[in-house]
Amino acid sequence: MTTPGTVLDLWASAHLPDVLGSAGVGLWAFELASQRVHWSRIAYEMHRIPPATPLSYVDVMRMSDPADHAPMNAMVERACRSGEAFELENQVTDPGGRTFWVRSRGKLIDSDVGPVLLGTMIDVTAQRETLARYEQQRAFVDRLLATLPDLVYVLDLASGQHVFTNRGALDVLGSRGDGAAVVGEPQFHTMVVDEDRPLLEAHIERMQQIGPGRALSVEYRIRDPRGNTRWIQSRDAWLESDERGELKSLIGVARDVTATRVAEQERRALEEQLAHQQRLQVIGQLAGGIAHDFNNLLMALHGFLDRVESGDAERRVEALERMRDVLDRARRLTTKLTTFGGAQPMHPQTVDVVALVGGLQGVLRELLDERIAFDVDVAAPPLWVVLDPTQLEQIVVNLVVNARDALHEGGTIRLRVGRDPGDGSVSLRVSDDGVGMSPEVQGKVFEPFFTTRASKGGTGLGLAIVRAAVRAAGGRIELQSSLGEGTEISVWFPSADAESRSRGDLGAQVVAPPRAAAAAAGAEPAPSLRVLLVEDDVDVRESLVLALRSRGFEVEPHASAESALRELEGAPAPDVLVTDGNLPGRSGGELARELRGRWPQLPVVVLSGYEASATANALPEGARFLGKPVPVRELVATVRSAVAATKGLAATR
Ligand code: ADP
Ligand code: MG
Repeated sequence: MTTPGTVLDLWASAHLPDVLGSAGVGLWAFELASQRVHWSRIAYEMHRIPPATPLSYVDVMRMSDPADHAPMNAMVERACRSGEAFELENQVTDPGGRTFWVRSRGKLIDSDVGPVLLGTMIDVTAQRETLARYEQQRAFVDRLLATLPDLVYVLDLASGQHVFTNRGALDVLGSRGDGAAVVGEPQFHTMVVDEDRPLLEAHIERMQQIGPGRALSVEYRIRDPRGNTRWIQSRDAWLESDERGELKSLIGVARDVTATRVAEQERRALEEQLAHQQRLQVIGQLAGGIAHDFNNLLMALHGFLDRVESGDAERRVEALERMRDVLDRARRLTTKLTTFGGAQPMHPQTVDVVALVGGLQGVLRELLDERIAFDVDVAAPPLWVVLDPTQLEQIVVNLVVNARDALHEGGTIRLRVGRDPGDGSVSLRVSDDGVGMSPEVQGKVFEPFFTTRASKGGTGLGLAIVRAAVRAAGGRIELQSSLGEGTEISVWFPSADAESRSRGDLGAQVVAPPRAAAAAAGAEPAPSLRVLLVEDDVDVRESLVLALRSRGFEVEPHASAESALRELEGAPAPDVLVTDGNLPGRSGGELARELRGRWPQLPVVVLSGYEASATANALPEGARFLGKPVPVRELVATVRSAVAATKGLAATR
């Protein structure tokens, strides 16, 4: 074996065909003079022909696709004429009938045997198949993207530009209406309406935080080229990150949900309209019912009045008694009306919630059927609060009835009364394991006339009344509910314990009905007290002047706070102020506080037809509040007790 002199000699050695062959490259040589073709071993193997089989140009041509003959001849001719490189990819059928693809490259060289075309060949069948598959997939994706009604885009974060957008985007965004298309790649992120821009910015920020592998949705409005607002709902995910691992571009799919949103809006508007109509209907029914009751009362009054005018003394007294009853009924009627408006004339007293709820248990059980367990847990010691006992009853009954209505299949209602460990207030909770409420319903339940039970006779007044009553008593209310699991409504009232201890006697009022207490007070001989009376309604003022004077009071009437303050300049203190809460100009509460500035001990009685709670808040300490209409006896009793309390307090100091 000879030692090769240089690397170049090695390249020229007989090993070269084998080295190229190991890379799948075959060698060929075409002697132009003899028309003989020489192949390396790999070339024979590629064609599945026994090595060293003699071949001519014609033999090679026979194996290739006839359609390729003409270009092949032309290529050979050109290569020989001009020395240009020879390059060809053609389909070949081997003697066994298998078809494959060959790429040949070659060049004309001069050799000992004359001009020779020398070149390489490789089998590119697999390569071509891969390419074909790739192209097929690409065509599929292209078609998919073009047919998709959604927008598909790639957003480059650095530039804020869409580096890719499908045709669907164009369809969604439409043309400007003058026929011109928007642009090849609509930048719909730049069309976002100003109000929704922060939303989108926050979304992109969140996208940066969540990292690759997750997708996030966002909805915003854009103004399209025609000037219409469209709702776009898009879902984005990371596409590429930069070398620091931060988000570089994101891929997103967006959908035009305008039609859905518009339909929703229309439906909501329609629902609201319907609810409004239902409310009006309920108001109509309510007003009709009350007018009917009132007319009956007026009829009765006419009847009794006639008796007063024409009857003898005994009958007159009886008729007057009956008229008083009718007036009481009228008062109860207006109480019903004003309660849910937060305008309940109240008769607040110091009440033991434990005793009151305990006393109601029987009635409450009557309201429930046997499939409902009623679990009452009421603290043992008395828990005093100041409120109108009728209203407390109403609160408890309404809450329990609602709990019952939520228990379609039966269940348990719990009623608990206790002291709040936090602030010492008195809590009352009613819970059920019934249907519960959706968050949407929870937001509305306290609205007057909101009901989900319209078909079952619901009026939507229950919780509105509860809330108004709780507020009037200075309490608060909370609602906890989840759909399918149940509801708990809790109410807290300020504790009146300290107050009732210092007054000592007030607890007794709970037992004594107001009427009896008033009657007892009315029976006492009238002391000559100076009453400062401020009332703007002339009929009410005059009737009160008459009533109070007939009971021995000295009355100084005024039509406004201003006139009272003017007249009282430098005058001695009255024994008591009786004022309307809602005076034109300065309110009764303001007048009372002003006068307390002069006479800190001045007893105050405030009368009001509505806005009990609002007025009560502005009252000076210790003031008595009476809701109109108030029977004269009750007024007289309150005035006397207010004066007596002040005197009593003054005496203990
Ligand atoms: P009504 O009972 O006449 O419908 P309410 O004001 O008492 O009116 O209640 C309003 C709405 O609140 C009810 O229609 C119901 O949807 C809901 N609701 C009240 N209490 C409950 C409860 N305990 N469980 C489930 N839903 C309730
Ligand atoms: Mg109800």
